[in-house]
Amino acid sequence: MHWFAALLLYCPFFCINCQSAAKFPNGLIYTLPVTEQTIFHKILARAIPAAIVTEDDEVLAFKDIHPKAPTHILFIPKHFVASIADVTPETAHIPGMLILKAQKFAAEQGIAGYKLTFHVGKGGGQEVMYLHLHFLSEEKLK
Ligand code: 5GP
Repeated sequence: MHWFAALLLYCPFFCINCQSAAKFPNGLIYTLPVTEQTIFHKILARAIPAAIVTEDDEVLAFKDIHPKAPTHILFIPKHFVASIADVTPETAHIPGMLILKAQKFAAEQGIAGYKLTFHVGKGGGQEVMYLHLHFLSEEKLK
């Protein structure tokens, strides 16, 4: 086989090095080319730092870099969905799961009052196209 044809054929094996890989509880590995990654993919992959406040198999939560309240946390699912606008029957549990994680986090922190917000699409103020739940409170973390 010509060397160039072989390169094209085996490219996916080599390109795994140029992709981010995240392993999910069901064992599937989800990858995206670097060019399609959002800043939250990079935070999830620990390629860039973030002030992580809580994490489990399904969700990562970290402080917003430009907080709009004394406590401003972003909850993201480890399974990628771009926006509430892209939620399907198969992924409809994800927004509820983020809300439950935020509720648990608030209880653990002793935070009684907070706001939860999803920005949807550019017109809805969404800048990062990776589904995230904003958790804002006038109360501070422990
Ligand atoms: P959106 O407007 O998409 O709903 O919210 C995106 C949020 O992500 C913004 O509040 C913004 O401050 C935050 N953000 C953007 N880049 C970074 C980053 O690199 N690190 C962290 N921790 N937050 C970020």
